[in-house]
Amino acid sequence: DDKQTYKDSQKFSDHMQNIDAVSDFALEKSIKEQREYLPVFAVRQSMLNVIRDNNVVIIVGETGSGKTTQLTQYLYESGYGDHGTIGCTQPRRVAAMSVAARVAEEMGVPLGNECGYAIRFEDKTSDKTVIKYMTDGILLRECLSDPDLDHYSVIIMDEAHERSVNTDVLFGLLREVVARRSDLKLIVTSATMDAEKFADFFGGNTPVFRIPGRTFKVDTFHRNAPVEDYVDEAIKQAIQIHLGAVDGDILIFMPGQEDIEVTSALITEKLNGLDSAPPLAVLPIYSQLPSEKQSKIFQRAPGGIRKCIVATNIAETSLTVDGIFFVIDPGFCKMKVFNSKVGMDALQVYPISQASANQRSGRAGRTGPGQCFRLYTTRQFKDEMLVTTVPEIQRTNLANVVLLLKSLQVDDLLKFHFMDPPPQENMMNSMYTLWTLGALDNAGNLTDMGRQMADFPLDPSLSKMLIVAAEMGCSEEILSIVSMLSVPSIFIRPKGREEEADSRKEKFQVSESDHLSLLNVYNEWKKKKYSSRWCKDNFIQAKAMTRAREVRGQLQEIMESNKLALVSSGTDWDIVRKCICSAYFPNATRLKGIGEYVSLRTGIPCFLHPTSSLFGMGYTPDYVVYHELIMTTKEYMQCVTAVEGVWLAELGPMFYSLKEQALTFNERMRETVRANESMEDQLRNSEASKAQMSTQ
Ligand code: ADP
Ligand code: MG
Repeated sequence: DDKQTYKDSQKFSDHMQNIDAVSDFALEKSIKEQREYLPVFAVRQSMLNVIRDNNVVIIVGETGSGKTTQLTQYLYESGYGDHGTIGCTQPRRVAAMSVAARVAEEMGVPLGNECGYAIRFEDKTSDKTVIKYMTDGILLRECLSDPDLDHYSVIIMDEAHERSVNTDVLFGLLREVVARRSDLKLIVTSATMDAEKFADFFGGNTPVFRIPGRTFKVDTFHRNAPVEDYVDEAIKQAIQIHLGAVDGDILIFMPGQEDIEVTSALITEKLNGLDSAPPLAVLPIYSQLPSEKQSKIFQRAPGGIRKCIVATNIAETSLTVDGIFFVIDPGFCKMKVFNSKVGMDALQVYPISQASANQRSGRAGRTGPGQCFRLYTTRQFKDEMLVTTVPEIQRTNLANVVLLLKSLQVDDLLKFHFMDPPPQENMMNSMYTLWTLGALDNAGNLTDMGRQMADFPLDPSLSKMLIVAAEMGCSEEILSIVSMLSVPSIFIRPKGREEEADSRKEKFQVSESDHLSLLNVYNEWKKKKYSSRWCKDNFIQAKAMTRAREVRGQLQEIMESNKLALVSSGTDWDIVRKCICSAYFPNATRLKGIGEYVSLRTGIPCFLHPTSSLFGMGYTPDYVVYHELIMTTKEYMQCVTAVEGVWLAELGPMFYSLKEQALTFNERMRETVRANESMEDQLRNSEASKAQMSTQ
């Protein structure tokens, strides 16, 4: 059966063998016993009563109390699924998939039947689906075609404390929807105590239901002095715990995939070097890890050996693993923050907040008294960490959100009901981005281009590229490129065979463009009838390619329903480069030295990434555009295409010739903002004076 083939195919994978050692051991308790042991089970009926009597309910409970997996099932068992879907949103894709799989298992149904999930480009639901887990982004897009969300009987906004941009926008939209639909139940769940704020947002009478927790004492240890390298320290700490006498699994938090991989590999390596060290199952989890490997963290290691989970923020509140007694917390996480220096969002490592630190230590006290090792000092905790994390909406570019709200006819964004409004500067920046792409007109209204762009579940520049491609006559090519950009890296470099892999990769590379190199791979694969054998021979990730093909199919459907022509430019790849330029012109850079460019817009130096086809080829075009910037020791351009200077002037006049036009736009927007503010002030004053009059 499926599971067996999966296990067999695992044997091929040559890295992370320790993951494979953890297999599906029979669980100690039956599913029923596990469900009834959860804290939420004790309050099942009183919680359902509160939901019955109110349209909006805030539910607060410790991580692991059973909110995400049980609430949907309780509602289903009480008949809420009879007249509509029970939807549950998650800020993270991994959580949506993992939790849906768990709930399907608890219900004893195949995933995708009664219980399913939907994430971008992947819909695992069917006509039968009553419980639907999805990312908040999916529900937000559903609002576009169904503003009243009529086919839902219940919407659970889970993990609301995460305050993702999409959740925050949904808050504003759903507040209106519940006012219009008395038959809809809205449940907002949170692991932290900001519940009152949520309740206030939905109106003073919104009840807050608290699930009594079952938590044990956690001893928290700080460092006496700041540590130099948190990866090293975490490894040492983990080994020390493992060699100690006390049983219990270990959870290490790391900011991102690279740190997780290094940490996992080094812990295993160091233990192998010790003669009498007991075995340890080191299990990584991060969003790009294949989902079968992700689920390993929940399973028991063979022979009940100790597990050491190395996780991103996902293990902070989204996923709960039982049996953790030790937490190692370096105090960092990766966050997307608008970086004014480079003029775009950047994913960077930042100190976590005090609230996050406390959530993390809480993970050690779920099954019994635990210990948390913080790799920072008490002083760092107090002085360098914010009390709570700044909501994403206040720190990122909102171009996508603006596009979506404008399509929902929310014309005056400054009047939209945000729980915490984004800074005006953010809003303006985002509107400016959209204006440069032609999605907004000079008055800030949605253009035809903008309306079409909103139909694609993509970043605005990629949507724009697809639309322009239809006019330019290269949409078949751009469809493949955009799809390839939507999946994780396709090239594999197995240990010991790096040179072979590199020389295969070189054969696909197009010297003037990484985008065209991706197109090349896709076309070759298509010529070979989408063969996975071919992928294997060429050191290409077959799964990622299959995914790209699925994404391509979905994007093609959107093109067709928008009557955008599907045309191929044949062998003329200059047109494709020009089309790429039409979307990426804000990311244009000019040659400065070998491998070094300088941004035309911000003036900062940008470097070719060593993985780029343009790197070290001796071919140095005067201008290139890039897909994104990666910030490590330097600003590296990821996925680069050579463009002509004249294209930039033609396609991005607001940047590269008529600078005044840009200023005019910004100035105009500022005036609008000022006008609105003074209007609001006047209104407020007149309302205040009215109120005064009525009390007199
Ligand atoms: P909450 O949402 O309140 O944090 P959950 O509903 O996510 O709680 O978790 C309830 C229980 O379900 C936990 O004990 C957790 O370990 C278990 N659980 C969740 N997902 C899985 C899974 N994929 N496999 C095994 N157990 C799981
Ligand atoms: Mg949860």
